Amino acid sequence: MHKFTADHIFCINRPVITDQVVITDDFGEILAIEPEAHHDPITVRKFKGAIIPGMINTHCHLELSHMYGKVGTGTGLIPFITSVVTQRNVDPEIISDCIAKADNDMYQAGIVAVGDISNTLDTIITKSISSLKYHSFIEMFDFLQEENANSEFEKYESVFSKFSENLKPSDKVSRVPHAPYSVSKNLFSKINKKNSGLNNITISIHNQETPPEMELFEKGSGSFYAFYEKFGIDLSRFIHDGKSSIHYALENLDKELRTLFVHNTLTTKEDIQAAKEKIKNAFWCSCPNANLYIENRLPNYKNFLESDAKVTLGTDSLTSNWQLSIWEEMKTISKYQSYVPFETLLTWATLNGAEALGFEGDLGSIEVGKKPGLVLIDFQNGQVNWNSSIHRII
Ligand SMILES: [Zn+2]
Repeated sequence: MHKFTADHIFCINRPVITDQVVITDDFGEILAIEPEAHHDPITVRKFKGAIIPGMINTHCHLELSHMYGKVGTGTGLIPFITSVVTQRNVDPEIISDCIAKADNDMYQAGIVAVGDISNTLDTIITKSISSLKYHSFIEMFDFLQEENANSEFEKYESVFSKFSENLKPSDKVSRVPHAPYSVSKNLFSKINKKNSGLNNITISIHNQETPPEMELFEKGSGSFYAFYEKFGIDLSRFIHDGKSSIHYALENLDKELRTLFVHNTLTTKEDIQAAKEKIKNAFWCSCPNANLYIENRLPNYKNFLESDAKVTLGTDSLTSNWQLSIWEEMKTISKYQSYVPFETLLTWATLNGAEALGFEGDLGSIEVGKKPGLVLIDFQNGQVNWNSSIHRII
Protein backbone atom coordinates (compact mmCIF):
# COMPACT_ATOMS: atom_id res chain seq x y z
CA MET A 1 0.00 0.00 0.00
CA HIS A 2 1.20 3.55 -0.80
CA LYS A 3 -0.04 6.92 0.41
CA PHE A 4 0.54 10.12 -1.53
CA THR A 5 -0.37 13.74 -1.02
CA ALA A 6 0.55 17.15 -2.43
CA ASP A 7 -0.58 20.77 -2.04
CA HIS A 8 -3.36 20.18 -4.59
CA ILE A 9 -4.90 17.00 -5.97
CA PHE A 10 -6.78 17.32 -9.25
CA CYS A 11 -9.01 14.25 -9.34
CA ILE A 12 -10.67 15.67 -12.54
CA ASN A 13 -14.12 14.20 -11.80
CA ARG A 14 -14.56 16.71 -8.94
CA PRO A 15 -13.16 20.11 -7.86
CA VAL A 16 -9.52 20.27 -6.73
CA ILE A 17 -8.94 18.86 -3.22
CA THR A 18 -6.38 19.68 -0.52
CA ASP A 19 -5.32 18.01 2.73
CA GLN A 20 -6.27 14.60 1.35
CA VAL A 21 -4.27 11.39 0.89
CA VAL A 22 -4.53 9.14 -2.17
CA ILE A 23 -4.01 5.50 -1.18
CA THR A 24 -3.00 2.96 -3.83
CA ASP A 25 -1.95 -0.68 -3.95
CA ASP A 26 1.46 -1.71 -5.37
CA PHE A 27 0.07 -1.62 -8.90
CA GLY A 28 -1.38 1.89 -8.64
CA GLU A 29 -5.04 1.00 -8.16
CA ILE A 30 -6.75 3.70 -6.08
CA LEU A 31 -8.02 2.12 -2.85
CA ALA A 32 -9.20 5.26 -1.06
CA ILE A 33 -8.99 9.05 -0.86
CA GLU A 34 -9.03 10.14 2.78
CA PRO A 35 -8.32 13.21 4.95
CA GLU A 36 -4.60 13.67 5.61
CA ALA A 37 -5.32 14.19 9.32
CA HIS A 38 -6.39 10.53 9.62
CA HIS A 39 -2.91 9.28 8.67
CA ASP A 40 0.42 9.23 10.47
CA PRO A 41 2.61 11.71 8.47
CA ILE A 42 5.47 9.18 8.50
CA THR A 43 3.40 6.82 6.32
CA VAL A 44 2.56 9.47 3.67
CA ARG A 45 4.79 10.65 0.79
CA LYS A 46 4.17 14.37 0.56
CA PHE A 47 5.04 16.30 -2.63
CA LYS A 48 5.33 20.02 -3.30
CA GLY A 49 3.01 20.69 -6.21
CA ALA A 50 -0.13 19.16 -7.70
CA ILE A 51 -1.01 15.51 -8.29
CA ILE A 52 -2.98 14.75 -11.45
CA PRO A 53 -3.97 11.46 -13.12
CA GLY A 54 -1.78 10.10 -15.94
CA MET A 55 -2.30 11.93 -19.24
CA ILE A 56 -3.73 10.55 -22.48
CA ASN A 57 -2.15 11.22 -25.87
CA THR A 58 -5.01 10.63 -28.31
CA HIS A 59 -3.03 11.17 -31.52
CA CYS A 60 0.45 9.90 -32.28
CA HIS A 61 2.25 8.16 -35.16
CA LEU A 62 4.83 6.20 -33.18
CA GLU A 63 6.12 4.57 -36.38
CA LEU A 64 7.36 7.98 -37.64
CA SER A 65 9.56 8.60 -34.58
CA HIS A 66 12.78 8.11 -36.58
CA MET A 67 12.06 11.20 -38.69
CA TYR A 68 12.67 13.62 -35.82
CA GLY A 69 14.03 16.89 -37.23
CA LYS A 70 13.98 15.62 -40.84
CA VAL A 71 11.10 17.78 -42.14
CA GLY A 72 11.19 21.58 -42.12
CA THR A 73 8.68 23.63 -40.12
CA GLY A 74 5.93 25.87 -41.49
CA THR A 75 5.82 24.39 -45.00
CA GLY A 76 2.12 23.44 -45.01
CA LEU A 77 0.55 19.98 -45.03
CA ILE A 78 1.12 18.99 -48.67
CA PRO A 79 4.92 19.52 -48.72
CA PHE A 80 4.98 17.89 -45.27
CA ILE A 81 3.24 14.72 -46.52
CA THR A 82 5.54 14.64 -49.55
CA SER A 83 8.60 14.69 -47.27
CA VAL A 84 7.18 11.92 -45.07
CA VAL A 85 6.33 9.68 -48.03
CA THR A 86 9.76 10.09 -49.59
CA GLN A 87 11.81 9.78 -46.38
CA ARG A 88 10.02 7.26 -44.17
CA ASN A 89 11.85 4.11 -45.31
CA VAL A 90 15.15 3.66 -43.47
CA ASP A 91 17.00 0.81 -41.70
CA PRO A 92 14.36 -1.18 -39.72
CA GLU A 93 16.65 -1.33 -36.69
CA ILE A 94 16.79 2.48 -36.49
CA ILE A 95 12.99 2.62 -36.83
CA SER A 96 12.55 0.09 -33.96
CA ASP A 97 15.01 1.85 -31.65
CA CYS A 98 13.33 5.23 -32.18
CA ILE A 99 9.88 3.71 -31.53
CA ALA A 100 11.03 2.12 -28.23
CA LYS A 101 12.65 5.39 -27.12
CA ALA A 102 9.54 7.44 -27.95
CA ASP A 103 7.36 4.98 -26.01
CA ASN A 104 9.61 5.35 -22.95
CA ASP A 105 9.73 9.16 -23.33
CA MET A 106 5.93 9.25 -23.23
CA TYR A 107 5.90 7.16 -20.05
CA GLN A 108 8.38 9.57 -18.43
CA ALA A 109 6.26 12.52 -19.58
CA GLY A 110 3.35 11.23 -17.49
CA ILE A 111 1.39 9.69 -20.36
CA VAL A 112 -0.50 6.45 -19.63
CA ALA A 113 -2.37 5.75 -22.87
CA VAL A 114 -1.97 6.57 -26.55
CA GLY A 115 -4.19 6.59 -29.62
CA ASP A 116 -1.65 5.65 -32.27
CA ILE A 117 -1.99 5.67 -36.04
CA SER A 118 -0.37 2.66 -37.69
CA ASN A 119 0.08 2.08 -41.41
CA THR A 120 2.74 -0.60 -40.84
CA LEU A 121 3.68 -3.39 -38.41
CA ASP A 122 6.68 -1.43 -37.08
CA THR A 123 5.23 -0.65 -33.62
CA ILE A 124 3.85 -4.10 -32.75
CA ILE A 125 6.76 -5.31 -30.59
CA THR A 126 7.11 -2.11 -28.57
CA LYS A 127 3.37 -1.96 -27.93
CA SER A 128 3.18 -5.60 -26.86
CA ILE A 129 5.60 -4.99 -23.95
CA SER A 130 4.90 -1.31 -23.19
CA SER A 131 3.67 -0.01 -19.82
CA LEU A 132 1.38 2.30 -21.79
CA LYS A 133 -2.05 1.28 -23.07
CA TYR A 134 -2.48 1.66 -26.81
CA HIS A 135 -5.51 2.03 -29.02
CA SER A 136 -3.94 1.39 -32.42
CA PHE A 137 -5.71 2.86 -35.42
CA ILE A 138 -4.92 0.87 -38.58
CA GLU A 139 -5.27 3.66 -41.06
CA MET A 140 -6.47 3.09 -44.61
CA PHE A 141 -6.45 5.32 -47.70
CA ASP A 142 -6.86 4.99 -51.47
CA PHE A 143 -6.42 8.64 -52.55
CA LEU A 144 -10.13 8.88 -53.52
CA GLN A 145 -9.71 6.16 -56.18
CA GLU A 146 -12.90 4.07 -55.90
CA GLU A 147 -11.46 1.24 -58.01
CA ASN A 148 -8.44 0.88 -55.67
CA ALA A 149 -10.53 0.59 -52.50
CA ASN A 150 -10.49 -3.19 -52.54
CA SER A 151 -6.74 -3.70 -52.91
CA GLU A 152 -5.89 -0.94 -50.42
CA PHE A 153 -8.36 -2.36 -47.92
CA GLU A 154 -6.81 -5.85 -48.22
CA LYS A 155 -3.32 -4.41 -47.77
CA TYR A 156 -4.18 -2.75 -44.45
CA GLU A 157 -6.48 -5.57 -43.37
CA SER A 158 -3.39 -7.79 -43.12
CA VAL A 159 -1.78 -5.17 -40.83
CA PHE A 160 -4.99 -5.18 -38.77
CA SER A 161 -4.91 -9.00 -38.45
CA LYS A 162 -1.30 -9.03 -37.22
CA PHE A 163 -2.09 -6.32 -34.66
CA SER A 164 -5.14 -8.27 -33.43
CA GLU A 165 -3.02 -11.39 -32.92
CA ASN A 166 -0.30 -9.56 -30.95
CA LEU A 167 -2.43 -7.25 -28.83
CA LYS A 168 -1.76 -7.19 -25.07
CA PRO A 169 -5.02 -7.62 -23.11
CA SER A 170 -5.33 -3.94 -22.16
CA ASP A 171 -5.00 -2.68 -25.73
CA LYS A 172 -7.40 -2.13 -28.63
CA VAL A 173 -7.19 -1.92 -32.39
CA SER A 174 -9.56 -0.63 -35.07
CA ARG A 175 -9.62 0.02 -38.81
CA VAL A 176 -9.91 3.74 -39.60
CA PRO A 177 -10.07 6.09 -42.59
CA HIS A 178 -7.12 8.49 -43.00
CA ALA A 179 -8.78 11.79 -44.00
CA PRO A 180 -11.64 13.14 -46.12
CA TYR A 181 -9.24 13.94 -48.99
CA SER A 182 -7.74 10.45 -49.16
CA VAL A 183 -10.58 7.92 -48.67
CA SER A 184 -13.12 7.00 -51.35
CA LYS A 185 -16.79 6.25 -50.55
CA ASN A 186 -16.09 2.66 -51.47
CA LEU A 187 -13.25 2.37 -48.92
CA PHE A 188 -15.34 4.09 -46.22
CA SER A 189 -18.04 1.51 -46.78
CA LYS A 190 -15.58 -1.42 -46.57
CA ILE A 191 -14.22 -0.07 -43.28
CA ASN A 192 -17.76 0.47 -41.94
CA LYS A 193 -18.83 -3.06 -42.81
CA LYS A 194 -15.97 -4.58 -40.80
CA ASN A 195 -16.44 -2.21 -37.84
CA SER A 196 -20.21 -2.50 -37.73
CA GLY A 197 -21.53 -3.63 -34.35
CA LEU A 198 -18.11 -3.58 -32.66
CA ASN A 199 -18.40 -2.19 -29.16
CA ASN A 200 -15.94 0.02 -27.42
CA ILE A 201 -13.64 0.83 -30.32
CA THR A 202 -12.87 4.30 -31.57
CA ILE A 203 -12.65 5.54 -35.15
CA SER A 204 -10.11 8.27 -35.80
CA ILE A 205 -9.95 10.55 -38.85
CA HIS A 206 -7.65 13.47 -39.70
CA ASN A 207 -9.95 16.44 -40.26
CA GLN A 208 -9.85 19.99 -41.66
CA GLU A 209 -6.12 20.36 -41.26
CA THR A 210 -5.15 22.57 -44.18
CA PRO A 211 -6.78 25.20 -46.49
CA PRO A 212 -6.25 23.07 -49.66
CA GLU A 213 -8.37 20.30 -48.05
CA MET A 214 -11.22 22.80 -47.64
CA GLU A 215 -10.73 24.15 -51.18
CA LEU A 216 -10.93 20.67 -52.68
CA PHE A 217 -14.36 20.01 -51.16
CA GLU A 218 -15.79 23.52 -51.25
CA LYS A 219 -14.59 24.65 -54.70
CA GLY A 220 -13.17 21.61 -56.49
CA SER A 221 -9.80 23.34 -56.92
CA GLY A 222 -6.52 23.91 -55.11
CA SER A 223 -3.15 22.28 -54.63
CA PHE A 224 -4.38 18.74 -53.93
CA TYR A 225 -4.86 18.32 -57.70
CA ALA A 226 -1.19 19.01 -58.48
CA PHE A 227 -0.05 16.99 -55.45
CA TYR A 228 -1.99 13.92 -56.54
CA GLU A 229 -0.90 14.34 -60.16
CA LYS A 230 2.74 14.23 -59.02
CA PHE A 231 2.06 10.73 -57.69
CA GLY A 232 0.21 9.72 -60.88
CA ILE A 233 -3.24 9.96 -59.26
CA ASP A 234 -6.11 11.38 -61.29
CA LEU A 235 -8.63 13.48 -59.38
CA SER A 236 -10.66 14.52 -62.45
CA ARG A 237 -13.58 12.25 -61.47
CA PHE A 238 -13.79 13.68 -57.96
CA ILE A 239 -17.06 15.59 -57.51
CA HIS A 240 -17.02 18.33 -54.87
CA ASP A 241 -20.26 19.21 -53.13
CA GLY A 242 -19.51 22.77 -52.05
CA LYS A 243 -19.50 21.91 -48.33
CA SER A 244 -16.54 21.77 -45.94
CA SER A 245 -14.56 18.53 -45.90
CA ILE A 246 -16.04 17.25 -42.64
CA HIS A 247 -19.43 16.90 -44.38
CA TYR A 248 -17.98 14.31 -46.75
CA ALA A 249 -16.65 12.41 -43.70
CA LEU A 250 -19.97 12.73 -41.87
CA GLU A 251 -21.86 11.29 -44.84
CA ASN A 252 -19.57 8.28 -44.91
CA LEU A 253 -18.73 7.55 -41.25
CA ASP A 254 -20.72 5.07 -39.11
CA LYS A 255 -22.74 7.34 -36.82
CA GLU A 256 -22.99 4.66 -34.11
CA LEU A 257 -19.22 4.47 -33.51
CA ARG A 258 -17.28 6.75 -31.19
CA THR A 259 -15.35 9.08 -33.50
CA LEU A 260 -12.24 11.15 -32.89
CA PHE A 261 -11.73 14.05 -35.32
CA VAL A 262 -8.05 14.99 -35.35
CA HIS A 263 -6.45 18.45 -35.86
CA ASN A 264 -9.60 20.49 -36.72
CA THR A 265 -7.56 23.65 -37.28
CA LEU A 266 -10.18 25.03 -39.69
CA THR A 267 -13.29 23.61 -37.97
CA THR A 268 -16.13 26.10 -37.45
CA LYS A 269 -19.02 26.05 -34.98
CA GLU A 270 -21.28 24.98 -37.85
CA ASP A 271 -19.00 22.00 -38.54
CA ILE A 272 -19.08 20.98 -34.86
CA GLN A 273 -22.87 21.27 -34.85
CA ALA A 274 -23.13 19.16 -38.02
CA ALA A 275 -20.98 16.45 -36.40
CA LYS A 276 -23.07 16.53 -33.22
CA GLU A 277 -26.23 15.98 -35.24
CA LYS A 278 -24.73 13.07 -37.15
CA ILE A 279 -22.29 11.24 -34.86
CA LYS A 280 -23.52 9.91 -31.51
CA ASN A 281 -20.23 10.31 -29.68
CA ALA A 282 -17.79 12.80 -31.23
CA PHE A 283 -14.43 13.88 -29.78
CA TRP A 284 -12.10 16.59 -31.10
CA CYS A 285 -8.36 15.99 -30.79
CA SER A 286 -6.09 19.00 -30.92
CA CYS A 287 -2.34 18.73 -31.59
CA PRO A 288 -1.27 22.37 -31.23
CA ASN A 289 2.50 21.90 -31.49
CA ALA A 290 2.13 19.83 -34.68
CA ASN A 291 -0.26 22.43 -36.14
CA LEU A 292 2.36 25.11 -35.50
CA TYR A 293 5.11 22.85 -36.86
CA ILE A 294 3.32 21.97 -40.09
CA GLU A 295 0.92 24.81 -40.89
CA ASN A 296 1.91 27.52 -38.44
CA ARG A 297 -1.69 27.94 -37.30
CA LEU A 298 -3.89 26.80 -34.40
CA PRO A 299 -7.59 25.93 -34.11
CA ASN A 300 -9.88 28.56 -32.63
CA TYR A 301 -10.60 26.87 -29.30
CA LYS A 302 -13.54 29.23 -28.66
CA ASN A 303 -15.49 27.29 -31.30
CA PHE A 304 -15.11 24.13 -29.22
CA LEU A 305 -15.67 25.72 -25.80
CA GLU A 306 -18.81 27.54 -26.97
CA SER A 307 -20.14 24.35 -28.59
CA ASP A 308 -19.54 22.29 -25.44
CA ALA A 309 -17.49 19.91 -27.61
CA LYS A 310 -15.36 17.20 -26.02
CA VAL A 311 -11.75 18.16 -26.75
CA THR A 312 -8.75 15.85 -26.29
CA LEU A 313 -5.03 16.44 -26.82
CA GLY A 314 -2.48 14.71 -29.03
CA THR A 315 1.15 15.15 -29.96
CA ASP A 316 1.13 13.84 -33.55
CA SER A 317 4.51 12.26 -34.38
CA LEU A 318 8.11 13.26 -33.76
CA THR A 319 8.18 14.15 -37.47
CA SER A 320 6.00 17.16 -36.69
CA ASN A 321 6.78 17.88 -33.06
CA TRP A 322 9.74 18.65 -30.83
CA GLN A 323 8.70 16.13 -28.15
CA LEU A 324 5.84 13.78 -27.25
CA SER A 325 4.45 15.49 -24.16
CA ILE A 326 0.84 16.38 -23.42
CA TRP A 327 2.06 18.88 -20.80
CA GLU A 328 3.91 20.72 -23.60
CA GLU A 329 0.68 20.75 -25.68
CA MET A 330 -1.19 22.30 -22.74
CA LYS A 331 1.52 24.95 -22.40
CA THR A 332 1.27 25.86 -26.09
CA ILE A 333 -2.50 26.34 -25.96
CA SER A 334 -2.16 28.46 -22.86
CA LYS A 335 0.56 30.57 -24.48
CA TYR A 336 -1.44 31.42 -27.62
CA GLN A 337 -5.06 31.18 -26.41
CA SER A 338 -4.77 31.91 -22.70
CA TYR A 339 -8.55 32.14 -22.20
CA VAL A 340 -8.74 28.33 -21.99
CA PRO A 341 -8.81 27.69 -18.19
CA PHE A 342 -6.12 25.47 -16.64
CA GLU A 343 -8.65 22.95 -15.29
CA THR A 344 -10.30 22.71 -18.72
CA LEU A 345 -6.90 21.91 -20.26
CA LEU A 346 -6.38 19.26 -17.58
CA THR A 347 -9.71 17.64 -18.42
CA TRP A 348 -8.80 17.62 -22.12
CA ALA A 349 -5.44 16.03 -21.22
CA THR A 350 -6.88 13.29 -19.00
CA LEU A 351 -10.55 12.28 -18.68
CA ASN A 352 -11.68 13.41 -22.15
CA GLY A 353 -8.78 11.51 -23.73
CA ALA A 354 -9.57 8.37 -21.72
CA GLU A 355 -13.23 8.55 -22.82
CA ALA A 356 -12.24 9.14 -26.45
CA LEU A 357 -10.21 5.91 -26.45
CA GLY A 358 -12.69 3.93 -24.32
CA PHE A 359 -10.18 3.64 -21.44
CA GLU A 360 -12.22 5.64 -18.89
CA GLY A 361 -13.01 2.52 -16.82
CA ASP A 362 -9.41 2.58 -15.57
CA LEU A 363 -7.85 5.86 -16.61
CA GLY A 364 -8.46 9.61 -16.79
CA SER A 365 -9.43 10.52 -13.20
CA ILE A 366 -8.34 9.79 -9.64
CA GLU A 367 -11.24 7.68 -8.38
CA VAL A 368 -11.45 4.59 -6.18
CA GLY A 369 -11.20 1.45 -8.32
CA LYS A 370 -9.33 3.12 -11.21
CA LYS A 371 -5.64 2.69 -11.98
CA PRO A 372 -4.99 6.04 -13.66
CA GLY A 373 -1.28 6.55 -12.92
CA LEU A 374 -0.31 9.48 -10.69
CA VAL A 375 1.73 12.40 -11.98
CA LEU A 376 3.24 15.33 -10.11
CA ILE A 377 3.34 18.86 -11.51
CA ASP A 378 6.01 20.40 -9.32
CA PHE A 379 5.95 23.84 -7.73
CA GLN A 380 8.01 26.62 -9.25
CA ASN A 381 8.24 29.71 -7.04
CA GLY A 382 5.69 28.22 -4.69
CA GLN A 383 3.02 27.39 -7.27
CA VAL A 384 2.14 25.29 -10.28
CA ASN A 385 2.84 27.35 -13.39
CA TRP A 386 4.04 26.83 -16.97
CA ASN A 387 7.65 26.54 -15.78
CA SER A 388 6.65 23.51 -13.68
CA SER A 389 7.78 20.09 -14.80
CA ILE A 390 6.21 16.66 -14.83
CA HIS A 391 7.29 13.74 -12.65
CA ARG A 392 5.88 10.25 -12.72
CA ILE A 393 4.81 9.12 -9.20
CA ILE A 394 3.31 5.71 -9.95
ZN1 LIG B 1 -1.67 12.48 -37.75
